[in-house]
Amino acid sequence: MKKRIVVSISAGLLLATSFVSAEDTLPLNAVNRANEVIDAALEAYGGAEAISNLNSVARKSHFTTWATNQSRSPGPPWDENEQMSFSAIDFENETFVGKNKGSGGGFDFNGSQIIKGEEGWQVSYRAGTVTPIAEPDFNNTSGPFIRVTAPLLVKQLQSRRQTSHWLGEVEFDGRTHDVITLVMEVGPALSLYFDQETHLLSRSERVLPPFGQVDYRFTNYETVDGIPFSKTFKLYVNDQPNVFIDIKSTMVNQSLEKYTAIPKTLEMVEAAPPAPTDVEVQEIKEGVFLVGGGNTYAMFVEMDNHIIAVGGTAGIPERIKALREVVKDKPIKYGVMTHHHNDHVLGVPAYQAEDAMVLTVKEHEAVMRAAATDADSLKLQFVEDKYVFDDGDRKLEVIDFGPTPHAKHILMAWLPEEGILFEADHFPNPTNGQMAPAQPVTKRMAEVIKEKGLDVKIIVGAHSPRIASIDDLRKALALSPVQVAQNKH
Ligand SMILES: [Zn+2]
Repeated sequence: MKKRIVVSISAGLLLATSFVSAEDTLPLNAVNRANEVIDAALEAYGGAEAISNLNSVARKSHFTTWATNQSRSPGPPWDENEQMSFSAIDFENETFVGKNKGSGGGFDFNGSQIIKGEEGWQVSYRAGTVTPIAEPDFNNTSGPFIRVTAPLLVKQLQSRRQTSHWLGEVEFDGRTHDVITLVMEVGPALSLYFDQETHLLSRSERVLPPFGQVDYRFTNYETVDGIPFSKTFKLYVNDQPNVFIDIKSTMVNQSLEKYTAIPKTLEMVEAAPPAPTDVEVQEIKEGVFLVGGGNTYAMFVEMDNHIIAVGGTAGIPERIKALREVVKDKPIKYGVMTHHHNDHVLGVPAYQAEDAMVLTVKEHEAVMRAAATDADSLKLQFVEDKYVFDDGDRKLEVIDFGPTPHAKHILMAWLPEEGILFEADHFPNPTNGQMAPAQPVTKRMAEVIKEKGLDVKIIVGAHSPRIASIDDLRKALALSPVQVAQNKH
């Protein structure tokens, strides 16, 4: 699974711009010009007083998102998903509420994040649980909402004008714009484009590693309580549509109290402890190893004279290194790539460096070659439904579980003698073993297990250090998404 782009990722790279202007060489001038642009923007947004008095904003919106490199099939057009969202911020009380309901990639979500000063909670309406947030971070959590709300960016400019520089003039959408920088509390600097006639914000952009160029467009302005808000918003990543937002309602300067209340019907639970970040080797059964740390794991299986690696998430070279502490000499002859998503093909160069044959489906060939160090010399073995390794002692089957709601083709590794199944992105397995109601992907995985008559005893996955039992899967399947009384917005 990929984190949504709207989740803020802190990074310190400044936007490299190509705006050059002769008078721009003096930093003082750049600061003065920025101040002029900010003052004009403040006027356009209802006046400096209205912006400094703008303490709370609550907006209900409809999101359309595109699953770039995370769709069911490789390559565009990307799968389009919908979600309803409610976001509210109160600066004085350092309160933020972000609520999202929707689905994507075979996962349903319905939850909210509430930050109230020093306290914070993660609410899952789907699981019926509330989890306290250990270290609530108002600035970090509210950043994505501020970045898509023009008057809040102007409010940031007002209080952080000393960080702002004028970068130059540029034609955008057939109109002349002044471009100035904004450095927020968290994240890379933004370049803000103000229309020279209306003094309204049309665009902002920043460079966000590892995604690239993120481009925000503010359109369709409407005045709410004397302040212009853009009613539609578009976000592009590397010029491809990523999120379009359609605002349904905007409220300003109202108390957020009713939105921060936690329904009494929800169960308060402890957060699952984070997985150890150091790479660890767990021997599940003799010669079968789950190796990983943090959010990424691979399985290595010892055959008579070689090793089969399964999974291609981040950090495969470190995982191979850790494996070498226990299995010293056998070569890794095969690397099984579960699917084509960009966070699951990072291991291709590592397997190529081991001179291993990479197993995938024919439909994912282009993605695998593109991920390789040398596309042409990558050794590929295509799996059609099933590919069986059998050395007389041990059997390993690579099975295409697709189509599932996550991917049209998804390879899983099955050890029939041991009853071990390795999966990716189909079975959330929290470190504390607290199962949530089965997601659509999990239900499909369970159906395939049944259809193929696999006597599964143990399930391990690409994103968890925990060795799950078949009972964990049964538990998840038995839980149904909770429908609880929610605050209606
Ligand atoms: Zn995936």
